[in-house]
Amino acid sequence: MKQYDYLIVGAGLFGAVFAHEANKKGKKCLVIDRRNHTGGNIFSEEVEGINVHKYGAHIFHTNDKGIWDYVNSFVEFNRYTNSPLANFEGELFNLPFNMNTFYQLWKVKTPEEAQAKIQEQVEASGITDPQNLEEQAISLVGTDIYHKLIKGYTEKQWGRKATELPAFIIKRLPLRFTFDNNYFNDKYQGIPVGGYNKLTEGLLAGIEVRTEVDFFKDKEALMALAEKTVFTGNIDEFYDYQFGKLEYRSLKFEHEVLDNENFQGNAVVNYTEAHIPFTRIIEHKHFEFGKQAKTVVTKEYPCEWSAGMEAYYPVNDDKNTELFKKYRDLSRQEENIIFGGRLAEYKYYDMHQVIGSALATTKAVL
Ligand code: FAD
Ligand code: UDP
Repeated sequence: MKQYDYLIVGAGLFGAVFAHEANKKGKKCLVIDRRNHTGGNIFSEEVEGINVHKYGAHIFHTNDKGIWDYVNSFVEFNRYTNSPLANFEGELFNLPFNMNTFYQLWKVKTPEEAQAKIQEQVEASGITDPQNLEEQAISLVGTDIYHKLIKGYTEKQWGRKATELPAFIIKRLPLRFTFDNNYFNDKYQGIPVGGYNKLTEGLLAGIEVRTEVDFFKDKEALMALAEKTVFTGNIDEFYDYQFGKLEYRSLKFEHEVLDNENFQGNAVVNYTEAHIPFTRIIEHKHFEFGKQAKTVVTKEYPCEWSAGMEAYYPVNDDKNTELFKKYRDLSRQEENIIFGGRLAEYKYYDMHQVIGSALATTKAVL
């Protein structure tokens, strides 16, 4: 008899949702994480009464009522709507690309004028069958927007030329011909009232959790504790990089407390030019409409991942996708190990998609 039904490696959203559902079904779970806290990348830390998103700005959004009801059963969500600004060479533009942006760029006032302007630039580019991020972006929004708001940001973020990146990355951003600065098209959106830790705590209530435990330091002994293992870390690391290393992008966060009530008037301001090394400045209090006397801001500097760093973004280009498939094929042969989440599935998942994936997995295996 093993001590636990499931050993869950990673206390991020995938691990926490899996643990919650398994616990509900009477399964005994042990959750471990190598960080000194739970929540993975949605973790926030209170500084000056403000919930600071320690691993980058997180805005919850989904079109799926089931997932929205699920998260709301653990914590109430506020009505925050993400409407970032882009700062390009000192000028501000609204995001995502919408009538406000087109007016700021070209002084066009109607959708017809904006569409004509974009059409003219797309035709001049001669792109008919976009093959990469650059071609996809130009064929959607034309060359002006591409050069001011996309190329610099994208090449900093990914450390690769936009011509070498997959087109799907830019399709994440809405393009609309209305005066609407909502960054997402989804029906439901918000930030947990009191911060994301409330969601994690709700999910993990009543479940044994051990932090500062690295699975790879004691793999065999840890796996021996449970009937099955759920692994949410880097899949290539799990298999000792036997086919080679997958590439990830990492981030360095520079957090700063300012003696200032309101620094930039918005939660997210992107810096889209290539020569500024950070991609965005986050002012955390605005996620929860905070009125504290001080403010906390974070600059986000992208960098290439190497061992010992946190892997934040999978690089889903052709080369890495091929390599990932080799690891995925190995993982599919495992009888007692389940792989899930952004790192183990090597997918550019948002939170609602991770929850969807974890719920589908639990439905299949429990
Ligand atoms: P993680 O949160 O990465 O959790 C994995 C956990 O496993 C980590 O805690 C890690 O420490 C642990 N672990 C790994 N290896 C080991 C090991 N060997 N031993 C022990 N523990 C281990 N999504 C949105 O919906 N909206 C947003 O606005 C948004 N913004 C984002 C901004 C940034 C900068 C980033 C990086 C992501 C953002 N996301 C956003 C995506 C979101 O963070 C993820 O979808 C989600 O948090 C992934 O959950 P996960 O459980 O798969 O992974
Ligand atoms: N992007 C851009 N300019 C911006 C914001 C985003 O070119 O001002 C591109 C960039 O390639 C980025 C992608 O759109 O990687 C997806 O942006 P999103 O805001 O969804 O990125 P995330 O929050 O996941 O880092």
